Amino acid sequence: MKQGKQIYEGKAKKVYRTDDPRFLIVSYKDDATAFNGLKKGTIVGKGVINNKMSNLLMQRLEKAGIPTHFVLELSDRETLVKKVSIVPLEVIIRNIAAGSFSKRYGVEEGQKFDVPTIEFSYKNDDLGDPLLNKAHAIAMKLATEEEIATIEKYAFAVNEELKKFWAECGVTLVDFKLEFGRLADGTIVLADEISPDTCRLWDMKTGEKLDKDRFRRDLGGVEDAYSEVMKRLLQHI
Ligand code: ADP
Ligand code: UDP
Repeated sequence: MKQGKQIYEGKAKKVYRTDDPRFLIVSYKDDATAFNGLKKGTIVGKGVINNKMSNLLMQRLEKAGIPTHFVLELSDRETLVKKVSIVPLEVIIRNIAAGSFSKRYGVEEGQKFDVPTIEFSYKNDDLGDPLLNKAHAIAMKLATEEEIATIEKYAFAVNEELKKFWAECGVTLVDFKLEFGRLADGTIVLADEISPDTCRLWDMKTGEKLDKDRFRRDLGGVEDAYSEVMKRLLQHI
């Protein structure tokens, strides 16, 4: 498939057309941002890790019955994906309190939940991705009730699969963000990426943070943390 015109450059990826309107090429960058773009930096080698990690995890999810946009890894940084119309919701699943949840509700970071939680935010950079509930999403016609039910079902299924897999790697899956999209026929599939940019991953033994919080919170060792989780994933996939 031939790479066509760039149609979008986001904070972490560039998106290109192909000669087939059903497919796009995404190219992963080393650029890192946090706090709605306020903090900017580079994580050397991140694009290569996130591309490969996301692809391996999505292939695993496909095997578990969760449809994804993944088609083919083209190179270190580039992947062919099914083009979707993105549902403008960030779907966040949490197993342990951290980040904005801890801040918002005054719950200490690290508190484990008996059952996972789900929340949605409106994917809108200008508004700072505000939190919204299912009724809001339906009222705003961001998705139908049926689509949201499908998204919830898939999001919890992703959590069960990934929690199990990361545990085999000695890593605790704390929380993560997913994006879903519609294929031309309306089918909902998992899109975007699953990586240390979009998940909180803690070492099971030491509690060490192995994800983008090292960048967000200036903890140092950012590249090493991304390499470490990738190494563990490759040993267990
Ligand atoms: P952002 O837009 O938040 O800065 P990125 O830099 O990761 O994020 O840009 C990638 C963009 O591509 C995102 O807007 C994401 O929603 C979108 N996207 C991801 N997967 C697909 C897909 N399969 N089809 C169409 N758009 C996609
Ligand atoms: N997340 C993300 N993109 C966002 C917001 C959150 O990938 O725009 C991920 C984040 O990496 C974490 C989870 O979603 O794994 C929950 O993030 P939280 O709501 O705690 O927000 P943060 O503390 O990152 O602002």
